[in-house]
Amino acid sequence: MKRDKKPVLYIVIPCYNEEKVLPLTSGIFLKKLEELEAAGKIAGGSRILFVNDGSKDATWEIICGLAKSDSRFAGIAQSRNRGHQNAVLAGLMFARERCDITISIDCDGQDDINAMDGMVDAYLDGCEVVYGVRSSRETDRFFKRFTAESFYRLLNSMGVEVVFNHADYRLLSCRVLDELARFQEVNIFLRGMIPLVGFKSTSVYYARHERLAGESHYPLKKMLALAIDGITSLSVKPIRMITGFGLLVAMLSFLGVMWSVVQVFLGHTVPGWGSTVSIICFLSGIQLLALGIIGEYIGKIYLETKRRPRYIISETTENLKKMQGMDEK
Ligand code: UDP
Ligand code: MG
Repeated sequence: MKRDKKPVLYIVIPCYNEEKVLPLTSGIFLKKLEELEAAGKIAGGSRILFVNDGSKDATWEIICGLAKSDSRFAGIAQSRNRGHQNAVLAGLMFARERCDITISIDCDGQDDINAMDGMVDAYLDGCEVVYGVRSSRETDRFFKRFTAESFYRLLNSMGVEVVFNHADYRLLSCRVLDELARFQEVNIFLRGMIPLVGFKSTSVYYARHERLAGESHYPLKKMLALAIDGITSLSVKPIRMITGFGLLVAMLSFLGVMWSVVQVFLGHTVPGWGSTVSIICFLSGIQLLALGIIGEYIGKIYLETKRRPRYIISETTENLKKMQGMDEK
């Protein structure tokens, strides 16, 4: 079903220690917002919402400066660094009551902002979710490309439904955001959660650029951690695999026991120290691995039962303006 009403758009941008990048990209975002408005795709009152994720540099000061200079810039600050996923969620939940659609995007200029036109068009055509998907990774170095693509394959093979090569660049309608707000989990992996929310969705393809400045916050170690979090937050397949593997090993050991009993009766018992030691080492390794995986899940349950807040907003540019007696348009 086509939509006639122009939506109010909030572009949600997480920022962590991005003082080098923000001055470069903020203008680009504003230009895009103007273009979209001029093309009659979005309504006035649309905003660019920066989420400061507890940066240790001048990022928040830059955001406040931008908000002062132009009312189309807005910002919220998390009380401390909580990570990319929490920052995006905080921004989305803040925007939910103020707009019709959100587009989340990184602040480093890597994702092509021109894909936003296609995203809004798809929304006007009736889609509720539009995924931004990287069509090529030519600008990524071989190692980053290989590890990033393995990341999506690993997630899918472990039972987490994710869109291949889609990160957190996506359009969400308010209807989807309202449903997302009902997902109360503390361990957040948006890429796996949005497909669970459902609704009509489509993808828009774009080429990914290099970072305009600064450095990636996702080295291999963090990417692995994100994959493990994603899998253990959204799928129980690893536990099932442990059960299956346990059954297999149990059956093999049963055969082994029968064999050794037969050997004893035949009088062939020899001091088999080497084989005993290697079996013990192998099995204890497997057991520790299995315990570790189960422990990971118990840890997740522990965190979920605490029901701690998923984000804490300490400041907003809206409040700063009120305090200084400036009018919000
Ligand atoms: N980011 C964040 N909190 C963090 C780490 C990163 O809000 O703890 C933001 C960061 O400012 C950027 C986005 O998340 O806008 C993606 O980070 P980055 O560009 O470093 O990741 P990459 O694109 O290399 O995967
Ligand atoms: Mg980046």
